[in-house]
Amino acid sequence: MKCYICAKEGRSTDAVAICIVCGMGTCMEHTIRQELDVWEGGYPFPAHKVGKTIPRMLCPDCAAALREE
Ligand SMILES: [Zn+2]
Ligand SMILES: [Zn+2]
Repeated sequence: MKCYICAKEGRSTDAVAICIVCGMGTCMEHTIRQELDVWEGGYPFPAHKVGKTIPRMLCPDCAAALREE
């Protein structure tokens, strides 16, 4: 899979992660890794409360959208 954002810019970069929200492939440069202990939005993540943070890989667009909430 190629990085979607790089592809839009005309570059071809291998994706190293996949955004868990929209499924977009992203390269190291475009992967936002956030560790938050609360997930809002109904994604089928562990239903029980976990005691530690869950690392999440997000594309820049989704990271920005989640930050606005
Ligand atoms: Zn990229
Ligand atoms: Zn995304």
